[in-house]
Amino acid sequence: MSRVFNFSAGPSMLPLPVLEKVQAGLTDYNGTGMSVMEMSHRSKPYQEINDKAESLLRELLSVPDNYDIIFVQGGASTQFEAIPLNICVNRKADYIVTGNFAKKAFKEAGKYTDARCVADSSDKNYTYIPKVNRKDFREDADYVHICFNNTIFGSHYSYIPDTGDIPLVADMSSCILSEEIDVSKFGVIYAGAQKNIAPAGVTIVIVRKDLQDKYQPICPTMLKWETQIKEKSLYNTPPCWSTYVAMEVFQYLKDNGGIKAMHDIDVMKANLLYDYIDNSSFYSNGVEKESRSIMNVPFVSPSPELDAKFVSEAAKAGFVSIKGHRLVGGMRASIYNAMPVEGVEKLVEFMKKFEIENK
Ligand SMILES: *Cc1c(COP(=O)(O)O)cnc(C)c1O
Repeated sequence: MSRVFNFSAGPSMLPLPVLEKVQAGLTDYNGTGMSVMEMSHRSKPYQEINDKAESLLRELLSVPDNYDIIFVQGGASTQFEAIPLNICVNRKADYIVTGNFAKKAFKEAGKYTDARCVADSSDKNYTYIPKVNRKDFREDADYVHICFNNTIFGSHYSYIPDTGDIPLVADMSSCILSEEIDVSKFGVIYAGAQKNIAPAGVTIVIVRKDLQDKYQPICPTMLKWETQIKEKSLYNTPPCWSTYVAMEVFQYLKDNGGIKAMHDIDVMKANLLYDYIDNSSFYSNGVEKESRSIMNVPFVSPSPELDAKFVSEAAKAGFVSIKGHRLVGGMRASIYNAMPVEGVEKLVEFMKKFEIENK
């Protein structure tokens, strides 16, 4: 077996022990004589998977009792429209735009509510997180939306904006499970699975109970959080396989020390890369230091030509999908939980070698 180090921003690596475990049960899950992919979502074995996924996630993130967790479809992008359709009292919502996904969420919301951008970091190509405080928000805003980790630009909030009584809604698609979070500071947290959880297909939404009956009358049944909350995520056929793998990833994290232990490793991996980049005169990362992501690390070499050469030589050496997003250029190493420390160590070695050969 030969596995590459996959630095893709998503879909991305999954922990090898989890892949092996789900492979072992692929044709016969727990003596059922079938795979989870072939199983009725109303069957007892699947009900157990669904329940366990919920309870393990609740435990890992210490989700308080006044929040519900649902597993839905449509990716994080579908939540961009679900949010303004679900939380609408005064028909006003404030957005902080720190990157491409935050901008998409803001634009989508404008179709269903009076969405206002209260802060934006596009002036420096999203290399920082704007400082905001309470008075920046409209007092009667229904919610404030942030993107906690900006996958494309490699930035992350170093603070949780103080929105007072206004519910804070956060897209955590590319950082969930990499850090302990105080869920009680948020009204809604959502994340697509394919970055740091499971295969694409399932999206996690954590919703505070008081925000579950504020939907617009036109809110489609399938986008209404209340629908899936009442039905325990089984209103319609769920993405069973993706939820199953998510459950196994949650179990794996729990067995390996939980989020705190994972976070320490994630910080260590990110520091390996940032320390090397910061001490090099060849590579650079333009993100303001206090707002750097530990999950997505963009960097450039001295020229676009060398960037292209780096990407192609890296792929030959077994470091794949390291090309930066077209909006940023250069390279981007996405180093989610499943990226082994060894993958980052070997990448740094490769970067050193490339620097010497191309200086
Ligand atoms: C990938 C990503 C999205 C889009 O997710 P889909 O599941 O493809 O809709 C949204 N927000 C962030 C922060 C992401 O990283």
